Amino acid sequence: MQRVQNYINGELVGPVSGQYFDNVNPAIGEVYSHVPDSDERDVAAAVEAARKAFPAWSVTPSEERSRYMIRIAELIDRDRDKLALAESIDNGKPVALARSVDIPRASRNFRFFATAIMHFSSESHPMEDTAINYTLRNPIGIAGCISPWNLPLYLFTWKIAPAMAAGNCVVGKPSELTPMTAYMLCELCTEAGLPPGVLNIVHGYGDKAGAAIAANPGIPVITFTGGTRTGGEIAKTAAPMFKKLSLEMGGKNPTIIFADSIAKERNNGDMMETTLRSSFSNQGEICLCGSRIFVESPVYEEFKEEFVTRTRALRVGDPLSEESQLGAVVSKSHLEKILSYISLAKQEGGKILCGGSQADVGGRCKNGWFVRPTVIEGLPHDCRTNQEEIFGPVVTIMPFDTEDEVLSCADSTQYGLAAIIWTEDLTRAHRVANKIQSGIVWINCWMLRDLRTPFGGMKNSGLGKEGGLEALRFFTEPKNVCVKLS
Ligand code: NAD
Repeated sequence: MQRVQNYINGELVGPVSGQYFDNVNPAIGEVYSHVPDSDERDVAAAVEAARKAFPAWSVTPSEERSRYMIRIAELIDRDRDKLALAESIDNGKPVALARSVDIPRASRNFRFFATAIMHFSSESHPMEDTAINYTLRNPIGIAGCISPWNLPLYLFTWKIAPAMAAGNCVVGKPSELTPMTAYMLCELCTEAGLPPGVLNIVHGYGDKAGAAIAANPGIPVITFTGGTRTGGEIAKTAAPMFKKLSLEMGGKNPTIIFADSIAKERNNGDMMETTLRSSFSNQGEICLCGSRIFVESPVYEEFKEEFVTRTRALRVGDPLSEESQLGAVVSKSHLEKILSYISLAKQEGGKILCGGSQADVGGRCKNGWFVRPTVIEGLPHDCRTNQEEIFGPVVTIMPFDTEDEVLSCADSTQYGLAAIIWTEDLTRAHRVANKIQSGIVWINCWMLRDLRTPFGGMKNSGLGKEGGLEALRFFTEPKNVCVKLS
């Protein structure tokens, strides 16, 4: 059985404890590999390796850093099918999705920041003929990068690529549920000739290896993506140590469908198809999925009928089958969490329009953890089902009458990550986008991503922004130098 290893100082090594835990393939419910149970000693070794690598890496010309990273991107592209298969087995997502979305995005992340760093510059502020100020933006040191299981290599590289491009060394920790592609990335980094210690990866549990990253005094900057409660834990440790923090956390995103969007839909539009994707892609395990669908009353019944019909037709199945549109959810405990929310929805008076239970996929996957895509109606916007993040293939639909009403319902949660608006009324689209409390707004589309744009949530969904220059600013320390001119 395969053993995942830590990657420290360019070497694949076991954890100091010598202990490993099971890694389960969620589609078949069986252990298929073992993961290092790392602790603060492994994190300390990774920090030491990064500390040694930092003086040379931080002054390596950006063009040269860029070349290493482009090479890594090329190797990810070369191994796309292998990585996609590994991602699908580790996470349960359809292999076709991993091949078309996750893995290409991982190489895009490297390529994007490898080239962005060559165009990164800082400002100067002249004070007429008295003085000139210029801002230096130097790498900070060692960056702690902690990522979740839903888009494993995609989100891990989204963090490590800008950190490395900006001249920092990295101590990264992928999710304990999905460590495999980050492990495979180590071999690609070695093949690309990345100097030892620039990227170090420590695998293990969040409350042990992850907490050790948050607490290590040698790591002054931390970027985290995961649940809001975990973000709070990390902040509790890191804030009193005055670490620089970027926290990308949970969401409960609204999809708002105005009545005028139905006319276009009837005429070959893509609102219905995109709303299916924004509801159920990756089994609904994308922080940007729209899990609360608000539909303007005059078209509510028409939308409901068509949406439920199409949801019923979605194929839940073996993630390794090219036919499957939804695969397994990531773990048994996550399956139980999703099913418990479906029970809660019923207790709260919700009516299950389709789905509502575990899916029996049969065959090789008879013991896997699958959920039928579920649509629920009849719930008020302020009940727990509509306030708490489920993070599975479960959406609620609710009618609304006015723009003010839907805005106040949409904004009623603790979250503010993404919002999706469907309307053909240009003025209204911009007005709602301007008012809604959300870090990301999509109008008549979903998941269209330009990597230059700021990415992240408002309220309890996020602290700080990722993406484009925001990320390069985050991973550098601005220093003002004031020079008197006479
Ligand atoms: P999680 O918070 O359980 O874990 C995320 C990472 O943090 C994992 O690597 C985990 O090991 C680590 N961790 C756990 N406890 C820790 C601790 N005490 N100290 C340090 N690290 C710790 O989240 P998850 O279940 O892996 O991911 C699902 C969540 O991630 C959802 O809430 C989802 O909305 C969110 N998410 C947000 C975004 C975004 O961009 N805002 C993107 C993807 C996922």
